Amino acid sequence: MQIISIIAFLITFTASNFAAAQTSERLRAARQIQAITQQDINSIVKPALLNAMLPKERRIAEAVNIVVVVDERIGRVVAFIDNFSQRKIEISTGFLALIGASIDANLIAGKWGYLKEIGEYKNKIANFLRGARREIREGGTPIKPESFAEYVGLPDDQYKKFSKSKEYDYSFSVAMRVMLSFVLAHEYAHHVFNHFENTPASCLNAPLGEDCLKARRAQEDEADDFGVRLNWMLGNNPLFATNYFMIFGLVENGLLSSEHSPSVCRLEKVLDAGIQFSENSDRIVQHLLQQNSEFQKQFKMLKNFRVVLKEQCEAGGLLTDTVVPGLF
Ligand SMILES: [Zn+2]
Repeated sequence: MQIISIIAFLITFTASNFAAAQTSERLRAARQIQAITQQDINSIVKPALLNAMLPKERRIAEAVNIVVVVDERIGRVVAFIDNFSQRKIEISTGFLALIGASIDANLIAGKWGYLKEIGEYKNKIANFLRGARREIREGGTPIKPESFAEYVGLPDDQYKKFSKSKEYDYSFSVAMRVMLSFVLAHEYAHHVFNHFENTPASCLNAPLGEDCLKARRAQEDEADDFGVRLNWMLGNNPLFATNYFMIFGLVENGLLSSEHSPSVCRLEKVLDAGIQFSENSDRIVQHLLQQNSEFQKQFKMLKNFRVVLKEQCEAGGLLTDTVVPGLF
């Protein structure tokens, strides 16, 4: 991913305040995100995912057309079969911009040690998502929070220098690809397991009855498991995805399922997988755990946090306002 795309991401994310005067620039930025991400998906993320699938899964997935669409709505992450019986996955530039802004925030926090601030900022994003839920569902575009650099008052020249560095470009690209890999694997699962044909028409639109909710939750669970399985095989640590998983869990399908899906249990499962992966299969994390006491401490906190989540999940806490403590 080129540096220009990152700047484009941030323009799209923060420019909402400037409204009409900057519409054409926002559109240009969104088109850049679209082109670069589409290329990344086609040449890197999709081939890797297809490779990790079983032959009968791959046969279905190969027929899926993944399209990045220019659309500011963050909730347009969806798998479906269109009117011409074409299997599709759509991801909006609005969703990508939100994920991009979160990755950017994590990189800045890591570089300058804004540990307290990143927690507050993630809360702010979560609040924005919750507050904006209805507006987004009705197709509106609520005003997004400022970028993390603005939030912590990082001088513009320092931020610009960092965001143009190789270090930033590399870390950003890796984080975005891993996140896309988890999101797309989840969406592929809806096709591979034929969730559309297995869903009665009465269960497609809100408000959903109790039976429909149960069925939809089971499908989301199945899709999450598939995502973890494929990415585990590809060497992608699920912990990398947890930072963004909450956003994804909230916005998929225009926030529809988030009203009811027990996201705390979904998050707990991904975290559990990430902790196991880290301890058993991730040499970098194992090395850090041996050498770095601060990392050790944070990892332990994360493990305890998972236990708390598990209790909440078992107690039936369906929605969570939880923000994952960040390791990366
Ligand atoms: Zn889903």
